[in-house]
Amino acid sequence: MHRRSFLAGSIAIPAAATVADMLAASPAAAAAAASGYVVNRAPLRADAFLRLPPGSVQPRGWLATQLGYQLDGINGRMTEISHFLQFDNTGWTNPNIGGWEEVPYWLKGFSSLGYVTGDSRVIAETKRWIDGVLATQASDGFFGPSALRTSLNNGPDLWPHMPMLHAIRSYAEFTGDGRVVPFLTKFFQYVNGRSTGVFSQSWGSYRWADTLEVVFWTYNRTGDAFLIDLARKIHANSANYVDDLPTLHNVNLAQGFREPAVYSVLSGDPAHRQASYHDYDSIMSAYGQFPGGGFAGDENARPGFGDPRQGFETCGIVEFMASHEMLGRITGDPVWADRTEDLAFNSLPAALDPRQRGIHYITSANSIALRDRAGSQGQFQNGFPMQAYMLGIDNYRCCPHNYGMGWPYYVEEMWAATPDNGLVAQLHGPSQVTARVADGTAVTIAADTAYPFGDTVTYTVRTPRSLAFPLYLRIPGWATTPALTVNGAAVAVTAGPAYAKIDRTWTDGDRVLLRLPMQARTRTWARNHNAVSVDFGALTFALAITENWTRTGGTDTWPTSEVRPGSPWNYGLTMGGFAVTTGLGDATDPFTPANAPIRITTAARRIPNWMADSDQIVTPLQDSPTPSAEPEETVTLLPMGAARLRITAFPRIGDGRPWVPLGVAFRIQNRHSGKVLGVDQMSTADSARVVQFADNGTADHLWQVVDNGDGYVRLRNVNSGKVLAVSDMSTADSAQVVQFADNGTADHLWQVVDNGDGYARIRNKNSGKVLAVSGMSTADSANAVQFADNGTADHDWRLIPEGTVKLQATHTGKVLAIQDMSRDNGAQLTQWPATGTADHVWRFSDAGAGYFRILSAYDGKCVDVDGVSTADGARVHQWDYVGGANQQWRLGWTGPGVFRITARHSGKVLEVSGQSTADGAPVTQWADLGLANQRWRIIPG
Ligand SMILES: [Zn+2]
Repeated sequence: MHRRSFLAGSIAIPAAATVADMLAASPAAAAAAASGYVVNRAPLRADAFLRLPPGSVQPRGWLATQLGYQLDGINGRMTEISHFLQFDNTGWTNPNIGGWEEVPYWLKGFSSLGYVTGDSRVIAETKRWIDGVLATQASDGFFGPSALRTSLNNGPDLWPHMPMLHAIRSYAEFTGDGRVVPFLTKFFQYVNGRSTGVFSQSWGSYRWADTLEVVFWTYNRTGDAFLIDLARKIHANSANYVDDLPTLHNVNLAQGFREPAVYSVLSGDPAHRQASYHDYDSIMSAYGQFPGGGFAGDENARPGFGDPRQGFETCGIVEFMASHEMLGRITGDPVWADRTEDLAFNSLPAALDPRQRGIHYITSANSIALRDRAGSQGQFQNGFPMQAYMLGIDNYRCCPHNYGMGWPYYVEEMWAATPDNGLVAQLHGPSQVTARVADGTAVTIAADTAYPFGDTVTYTVRTPRSLAFPLYLRIPGWATTPALTVNGAAVAVTAGPAYAKIDRTWTDGDRVLLRLPMQARTRTWARNHNAVSVDFGALTFALAITENWTRTGGTDTWPTSEVRPGSPWNYGLTMGGFAVTTGLGDATDPFTPANAPIRITTAARRIPNWMADSDQIVTPLQDSPTPSAEPEETVTLLPMGAARLRITAFPRIGDGRPWVPLGVAFRIQNRHSGKVLGVDQMSTADSARVVQFADNGTADHLWQVVDNGDGYVRLRNVNSGKVLAVSDMSTADSAQVVQFADNGTADHLWQVVDNGDGYARIRNKNSGKVLAVSGMSTADSANAVQFADNGTADHDWRLIPEGTVKLQATHTGKVLAIQDMSRDNGAQLTQWPATGTADHVWRFSDAGAGYFRILSAYDGKCVDVDGVSTADGARVHQWDYVGGANQQWRLGWTGPGVFRITARHSGKVLEVSGQSTADGAPVTQWADLGLANQRWRIIPG
């Protein structure tokens, strides 16, 4: 049973009153239009709230600061910087030229930026563009780039028109320009005259809810019956969000999931409204299991990729906000405003640099570095760099053009009119609304607050005369002890999610005080290994990580910036309590670490095995609670929106499974065929066949060693997250080797048995048989099987470390380094604490016959035994690679992820001289004595 039940088309929420409930019993509902705002025309059902014209609500305080940054940032100045937005060179003003979504995306946010700020430059520039767009309408009603008439399978691509329709609608609301309704009518006649295939193709098919809203808007002003037919056609032929999710693309979902609820305004079918609730729950329960209000969709949401390190596209953030805002207006359910605020306060600011001079493509709830490089191990679905802040006009393309709607739409939707001729404070924050109430008299209400950085909102009512109207104030779901006074007198108010209603005769200067006391509280994310997050009111908190910003490109005005961590981040919380300090920083500009007005301190311990991978991307969460022997420390938490580097989903420290260092990814190469282990068709499904294939670099060829702590390991596929297993737990020869979800059965455990010659057998715990290739085939896609350990060459495998790594001496935990970071031939190799300098990073490169070169990622030189000496104690230094046997090394597995490293010319092993534990101790070769200073763990570089 869904947690909400739907009765007679309105929503009943236990212990929470919606405006829809109140209105159902209110005789004033019949006089809905008295205040002068347009209401839905039959057969459209009434919305719970009425949208106010843009410009009715103005931002103040910190919100005004954000919109000021937007005026002077990417969105406000985008015509200067985007080649897509040249007025004289786009199909949106000259139909003979091309054009797609960029101008509509940008103008949608830019126009509303002007309305909410009153900025005359932006308002004038908007008018110029809207005039230009309106002038492109052809006699058949089509407008914009003519090429779009036939660009989709010879039919029209109407997706780019959808955001443009919103810009045009808002323009009409702001200006009252009489050209717009006939323009839209004509365009919709054009759309209505197309075959139904126009609704079911490409991006548009998932996003037609956008257009439904404008169709209804036009119908309410004209009563043209064909618009109702058009709306029915749109619903019937566009993607079906009623029965299930028709797509897993993050922006499609964020934008499209509201379609059934929007359509319910026409259909009146409660099942349609419920479908959008259900869609939201489906998305979030599968992929939104971390704080910030978004979900894991670093292009598409994907099964197995729900860790908080996955990202949510900036387009997804602002479109999800807009969907929630509309659903709040349609349903009157306060939960949608809670969800809007969650995204607005926590995720949206983090998607931008603090001055909106740079933007990135994806924002992740756990993100410990923002690099302008792609993940090399299949961490994200997209293979392009997505995390550095930059203009991104061509890199990210959609997001820089689209992000601009985020804050202006938030401001527009903070207040709405109610059908009983009152007002509702829907989204909170510093603002001022001027709107018509009662019989149509204009009143102004100022909301003075630092919310969500303060817990009190003071509303001051300005009215030209005494006036009776209801004022509704949203009580957020987290507010368990709200308090309300009117001119100092207490008014009863219930806990959220709810709306408090104050129905009285107002006089000028009346003052309402809403207090929303906040407490630190935690959420546990059971579907992400029981990680915990910390909230305070509407804000989610993140570990404060020192942000080292580096400009890597761009200009002084529009820099491209990477951000790297300058302090440790791998903490788990001990859950010893949370100390909250408020009133800090600068509440008028709160989204930087220095300005954050609220900080929380709490106790934590580091988890040494929780490391970044070789791309400096945080590795996925593991089970909580997890033990830590590290000292307890006090750490500081900042609001997530103020933190560009962050951990928001924390492991919890306690008795439980130790954290397993994932180590690097390896390719597993067959000695007989030279091919590597992969998954057939790169499948991510359970029971997909494991095969051998030419080493061509796909992510399914990478496997991580997961230590089981008992001499066995699991081998986890980087692409699918599944582990190497034997089909049906068979113990027979030639049984198929497959991948399967890591569910703990014994056939998932393998022992790597070193042959002493650079190769190893990989033996299954359940069957005792070893990993082999079916029929000793040397062909691509030949099946991996298990077989009795009878010594054939297809039973031998070599682990090849992928990408950049560090080599950690197991007796000290220090790493192989170059003395004084020298770039000279002959520079001594040493051990040094892993401080992150570039001379600690190495990579393995094939040298033939089972040997590797070990190359410095810092200067390209290799690990070399001085003078080709075969003596014990010969020093090991770096040298240009010249093909010498003293420069070639063999890896011998001695334990999970731990190797002996043997020189080809001498048969001696790499060691830290004299078992020294000192920083800078020299590295030499010595006969293998099995000592810990002769064993090296390969860890992410
Ligand atoms: Zn985007």
